[in-house]
Amino acid sequence: MTKSVNSVLGPVSPENFGVTLMHEHLVFGYPGWQYDSAAPSYDREKAAEACCAMIGEAMTYGLKTVVDATPNDGQRDPELYKIVAEKTGINIICSTGLYTEEEGAPAYFKFRRMLTGGSPAITNEVYETFMKDITQGIGDTGVKAGVIKVATSRGEITQYEGMVLEAAVMAHKETGVPIITHTEGGTMGPQQADFLLGQGADPNRLMIGHMCGNTDINYSIEVLKKGVYASYDRFGLDLFMPDVKRQETVIGLIKQGFEKQLMLSHDFICFWLGRELPLSEPIIPLVANWNLTNIFKNIIPALKKANITDDQIKTLMVENPKRLFSAT
Ligand SMILES: [Zn+2]
Repeated sequence: MTKSVNSVLGPVSPENFGVTLMHEHLVFGYPGWQYDSAAPSYDREKAAEACCAMIGEAMTYGLKTVVDATPNDGQRDPELYKIVAEKTGINIICSTGLYTEEEGAPAYFKFRRMLTGGSPAITNEVYETFMKDITQGIGDTGVKAGVIKVATSRGEITQYEGMVLEAAVMAHKETGVPIITHTEGGTMGPQQADFLLGQGADPNRLMIGHMCGNTDINYSIEVLKKGVYASYDRFGLDLFMPDVKRQETVIGLIKQGFEKQLMLSHDFICFWLGRELPLSEPIIPLVANWNLTNIFKNIIPALKKANITDDQIKTLMVENPKRLFSAT
């Protein structure tokens, strides 16, 4: 039996996902971009052009589905998602969720929480936010979120983040929508999984993200032994960790039999909000492969060279995302 999943154009069956990138962004802006008065204002048409060009190119390699992992405080644009899905024919699944305390926009719920002395009523408000996005749609766009995105900090799960994780599990249990995560700097993967599982999250519908931020294979194994999915989803961001190291970890894990729990993606951003990125000379080569085709052009061939089979690659790119979204 398969469930239907909220795509930005309405329900789709995970059977039709095909090749899937589990963590990308069509548009993203760090909170604060709105207050850069001298920055160009948001041009949806220009954003759509950039997204369609990038996604269109990745589709020539067989890409069929993209999960947009942008949380509410990264500035989602459901109207843009609809345009891009219609123009390219790609399935887009978008998120509801909140980012880390450091890089998200925590002040609103943190203040409310403080006023109530940490009352569960505010956890409930966060839960209501997620439920609204999943069951009724984001704003008045009619676009429903198909996944919940949560995040934790480097070396800790802050109180605020814990509240968000708790609310996410409440909405996840009620709706069956999968949870995908951000971990910071290759830390807290096991603790984050424990926290979510401890609240009652279903390991079959939980994907711990940015696992390639840590190249100690035992860190990955500790997470995978909990039965959850792990996502190696910053390929191309040599700025944080060279791809060679990311792929070594993935190869090692496949050789140890974990292929049914692994997924690959880039965490690429097709269109940045605010001013253009001020990439300095030394940074440019470190993001040269950061785009939606890197996995198809460079990483899959490297895996094949290491004797990873076509079947195993299909498991990572097609079967695992399908299973995450079909679990009941
Ligand atoms: Zn991301």
